[in-house]
Amino acid sequence: MIKVIKNGTVITMDNKREKKFEKLDIVIKDNIISGIENNYKGEYDEIIDATGKIVMPGLINCHAHLGMSIFRATNDNLDLNTWLNDKIWPIEDKMTDEDIYYTTLLSCIEMIKTGTTTSNDMYMGRSGILKAINETKVRLMIAGTCIGEYKKEVFDNYEEFYLNNKNNEMLSFSIAPHGLYTCSKELMMECKKFADKYNIPIHTHFCENESEVKTIKDTYNTTPINALNDLKLLENKLILAHCTFIEEEDLKLLKDKDVSFVHNPVSNLNLGCGVADVITYRKNGVNVCLGTDGQGSGNNMNMFYHMSFVDFLQKGKYKDPTVFSSYETLEMATINGAKALGLEKEIGSIEVGKKADIIILDLSNTEIYPTPDLITQVTHNVESNNIDTTIIDGNVLMKNHKLLIDTDEEELKKKIDSIIFNLIK
Ligand SMILES: [Zn+2]
Repeated sequence: MIKVIKNGTVITMDNKREKKFEKLDIVIKDNIISGIENNYKGEYDEIIDATGKIVMPGLINCHAHLGMSIFRATNDNLDLNTWLNDKIWPIEDKMTDEDIYYTTLLSCIEMIKTGTTTSNDMYMGRSGILKAINETKVRLMIAGTCIGEYKKEVFDNYEEFYLNNKNNEMLSFSIAPHGLYTCSKELMMECKKFADKYNIPIHTHFCENESEVKTIKDTYNTTPINALNDLKLLENKLILAHCTFIEEEDLKLLKDKDVSFVHNPVSNLNLGCGVADVITYRKNGVNVCLGTDGQGSGNNMNMFYHMSFVDFLQKGKYKDPTVFSSYETLEMATINGAKALGLEKEIGSIEVGKKADIIILDLSNTEIYPTPDLITQVTHNVESNNIDTTIIDGNVLMKNHKLLIDTDEEELKKKIDSIIFNLIK
């Protein structure tokens, strides 16, 4: 099956192309990008006309909790610990895998409609998550989540799930201890063993707010990065979500390590955690990517919305508009995200041989017209109504704004309302 995306202006995010944004045809053979050409004249089964539109890699959300859609925008005036302890965890304890199927399904639709093609998830209820992924065909890094003390059965269950699903093309896997401040040392070490055994990343919350940093310092008698080092976790591939407070001295320890920081600007602002120093992290060679966090604190999973905060925050923090560019923001949401997940050979840019995870934007509506600077427009002014087409693994999941998956959105919303009624009200 050959599809051709014809005549769009292409943002490849392939630095070898020197940031040229040319009119190109993208040829997709099955699920792989097989050609990037000026005027494709070969065979095809389907043409997707992108004349006047922007073609770019699908966005990669490196820290999300897809099952949390029912908590959308529920945090107002609460600090992180109060919010988790009073509003989130007691309800999550009651959620079944079936509930999580529906709440994840809602998030998968949100991903497709807002141009995110891969998410790095951290949630329980894996059978529900898997069902939603199989139904919507979005790409997901799924997590073996754990918190508190080590429980062998939790790891046995995840191992069985991993072995049964490791050949699923749409899935990759992490082990995800909730955080250094909420997991015992023994549990962290078991996560390391599991990550080593299957060569998968460790995805965890890290240095989200000052009270967490203090708890880690009190427990480990050293800084959080040093604590990771003492546990030999820096030898693993780490995906550290938040990193709002990292001491610059400690960044030296991360040199040449396979560590990525996931910046979650909206969640960090909403919970009053602070603003991560993305500039310093990047200067010290850390791969920084972007996440939305769950909709509870991030309010939505629209990566375009979350991107719009990134350079503004750094420019404001440094009182200097030259410190950060829109292109760097877009790298965080695409190719840097792919690197964080260890998928940079497969996704994150439009290059021949990569998986066809591609979105098409229509920026012709009057209220954001015109587009003299393409990248600034894309990182600041795109809303969900500008996302015209979403293709994941060669499958066209939305075209001309029409969702092409077999899910009844109205029925789903009714189901979500009943879950909220049963769990929360
Ligand atoms: Zn989170």
